[in-house]
Amino acid sequence: MNTAADVALAHWSASGPWKRLPGENYNLVGSAGVLKIAAIEFEQILLEQTMTEMYCNAGLPAANLMATTQGEHAVSCELFGKPAVARLFECLPGTPWRECTSSDRLLGGIGDMLARLHEATAGDAPEFAFRTHQWDVAKAGQHRVSIPLIHDDVARRAADQALHDHAGIDLTSCPRGLLHGDFHDENILVQGDTITGVVDLGDALVGAYVQDLAITLSYALQQIGVDPARAGVIVSAYDARRALTPDEQRVLPTLIAARHATSLCIAAERFGLNPEHATWFSHMEPTLRAIQMVQGYSPRDLEDALCQGCQRRRQRGRCVDDLRAKRQRLGPSLSLSYDEPLHIVEGRDQYLLDADGRVYLDLVNNVCHVGHCNARVVEAIATQAAMLNTNTRYLHETVLEYADRLTAKMPAPLDTCFFVNSGSEANELALRLARAATEHTDVVVIDGAYHGSTGNCIAMSPYKFNGPGGRGQADWVHSAPMPDVYRGELRDTDAGLGYALEVGRVIGEATNKGRSIAGFFAETLLSCGGQIPLPSGYLAGAFEHVRAAGGLCIADEVQVGLGRVGDAMWGFELQGVVPDIVVLGKPMGNGHPIGAVVTTRAIAEAFANGMEFFSTFGGNPVSASAALAVLDVVEEDGLQSRATRLGDRFMDGLRALQSRYSIIGDVRGRGLFLGVELVRDRTTLEPAATEAAMLVNNMKARGILLSTDGPLHNVIKIKPPLVLNEGDVDRSLRTLDEVLGLMCED
Ligand code: PMP
Repeated sequence: MNTAADVALAHWSASGPWKRLPGENYNLVGSAGVLKIAAIEFEQILLEQTMTEMYCNAGLPAANLMATTQGEHAVSCELFGKPAVARLFECLPGTPWRECTSSDRLLGGIGDMLARLHEATAGDAPEFAFRTHQWDVAKAGQHRVSIPLIHDDVARRAADQALHDHAGIDLTSCPRGLLHGDFHDENILVQGDTITGVVDLGDALVGAYVQDLAITLSYALQQIGVDPARAGVIVSAYDARRALTPDEQRVLPTLIAARHATSLCIAAERFGLNPEHATWFSHMEPTLRAIQMVQGYSPRDLEDALCQGCQRRRQRGRCVDDLRAKRQRLGPSLSLSYDEPLHIVEGRDQYLLDADGRVYLDLVNNVCHVGHCNARVVEAIATQAAMLNTNTRYLHETVLEYADRLTAKMPAPLDTCFFVNSGSEANELALRLARAATEHTDVVVIDGAYHGSTGNCIAMSPYKFNGPGGRGQADWVHSAPMPDVYRGELRDTDAGLGYALEVGRVIGEATNKGRSIAGFFAETLLSCGGQIPLPSGYLAGAFEHVRAAGGLCIADEVQVGLGRVGDAMWGFELQGVVPDIVVLGKPMGNGHPIGAVVTTRAIAEAFANGMEFFSTFGGNPVSASAALAVLDVVEEDGLQSRATRLGDRFMDGLRALQSRYSIIGDVRGRGLFLGVELVRDRTTLEPAATEAAMLVNNMKARGILLSTDGPLHNVIKIKPPLVLNEGDVDRSLRTLDEVLGLMCED
């Protein structure tokens, strides 16, 4: 027995003729009903059967399964030579919605019907409904890998943007239940303005209810054109029966575009299999039109248009201009990032969400080391805050455990910790320690460095004291040249030793004038200096000169510490040196303010001259809990090796772009601390600062946050939360390619 007709006749005594229905499945219609032959699992059959019964019990027009002459609902057969299952469904009246005119009455009926389907299946879902598949819009990100397969530039960019936005949303707060999974224009049968049939439960699953609504809307927008307010009729009717929560309303536009993107990606995946396939590609044109239309709106405007009739509208924040005016009260010295400032209202992992519902990939925030609002860190903070928060003059386990864990990650003899609230406070303390231990006063710093915002830190930061409003170098501060092998004086393979000699020279000049060196402050990869990794041998050589002058060596790890550089936990390890003092800040608490100074017992003892050191908030139980949670996540989620893996991927992609765009003069960095230096001329190295700012603003317009740095403002810095993923890296590279392509056109 090999044809469908044979199967139907043998098991249901149903005779032909049979006609294939459009769609990706092998479905045939005949006078006896709809014969579906598919290679599916037993559990799926059970799921479809269970849901059909639930729908029918609620009086909804689902197609009943017809029993065979033996009383069974499914029989084994073959489909194109492979084992399959045949089922015969009752034939419902009506024509697919796709072929009908969508009156408002019909649209309202569709919204209401979907809410009824959800009502009918409310309650505990059967275990076999907890599954996923390629059309699961909650898992649309699975198709990011297929984006490069989309040939059409417009479609590829649209899908890329949609899946980027999708990665930034969170469905966990949206009500869940059994979903139809494919309630679209071919699976809804209509007569006049009335729905006469709901078919095809092949994609049913448990998920957020709003996923179903998004699927229906994505097809409605193909059907009724550029008018989301009309699609809003579906939403209002749905909402009248089951009120949408504000969170559901917010994610709706993103899910709609994600469904379109899923269609574009799956079509691209299949194109290689059978480019002539009639039904696979029939939706492509309207899908592309619809996704472009959706993306033409801001998510907020689209949400407003779709959800204007909802009972519980979402509260909105103040508008940007209003906030900007109010911000005057914070004083005029505080700048705002980007030409058009961002009003960020939520963060999750590597993504930020603005008040308009736009998602941004954050490639610059190295403070939120283990991801914005990391659940474990949030929980650690909340739990401890609910229990106790006090100062370190009492005994408490948490700060002691953290001190143990932190020093265990440092080489001997760095075994003693001071806890403070910021990188600046940590550098201030490091200066006091160095002065106390050496009884000297002066410091050597590296040009372009930034060590913090307090009085002494500004004095130790050439980036500030040589910059706008700066008062120049204090007599107790001495600057050594930046060990920059791209733009500096020394560029050969021995440059590290050469630049270390410069430190020696600076120390010599200072001591000749009768000055005494207490310490050398060095960022272990230069940050404000322009994302510059230190050339090999630099710190080892420089430390020798410093120690010979009786000074201490202080590694400022505020930017790069805690695994960011990938191959090592600390930047100084890349240079094979052990500092006398290590300064930590930014990433330690993942945004919770905590800093630390780690040093040797001997230095700590030299500092203990009778005057107490006490920082009210330093090392309090809440800060220590946050910091412990960060360490846990870094270790348990393997974020250090992730920094290596993704950093290498980023670096390779950036180098490939460098070979195509001459404006990229240099690509450098380590792990997920990278820099891209833009120049107008690769010989003169004329800095391309305006272009760098333009690139950053263009990337932001495409949902990717970067910023510029370096004394010439021409270095693009990349230092994202370490939870970044491959899809983010690839999209960043594609978007950089697109923006560079536009900027370098002529
Ligand atoms: N050191 C370095 C290398 C920094 O980059 C910064 C801050 N950007 C600081 C110290 C000061 O840290 P904070 O802003 O926490 O005081």
